[in-house]
Amino acid sequence: MQEVGQTSHLSLQERVTYPDDGLDIVEPIIIEADLLNSGEILVLDAKVSAKIKLECGRCLEKFVFQEEIGFLEEYSHEISLSPKGKGERELTKEDFIFKIDKENMIDLGEAVRQNLLTQLPIKPLCKECSEKED
Ligand SMILES: [Zn+2]
Repeated sequence: MQEVGQTSHLSLQERVTYPDDGLDIVEPIIIEADLLNSGEILVLDAKVSAKIKLECGRCLEKFVFQEEIGFLEEYSHEISLSPKGKGERELTKEDFIFKIDKENMIDLGEAVRQNLLTQLPIKPLCKECSEKED
């Protein structure tokens, strides 16, 4: 991934747990991602499939929810939006760019965690309840 314009595809299966977030992920999550080196930043275009045990918003039964999400994230060696010293400002959420560490490793797990959380339905419904809703 050294050259600008270079892309690479990642296909991963990863068993993850996010106990701090109260997410009970029952099977390894599946990640399909494309990485594009666009010079300053590395663009991650990911699709994630996860099975998460949730409580139904209607009958309160636990059920396994299949979450399918897609997201884009940007990674950079330098967080140029927040120059040190003069003119420094707080990063807003929109500005947020993940940092690439010294070993050129990107923290895919954190991006996946955040997107799984933010894209969860507010009121998940189990299969039975969602059928009644139709
Ligand atoms: Zn239900």
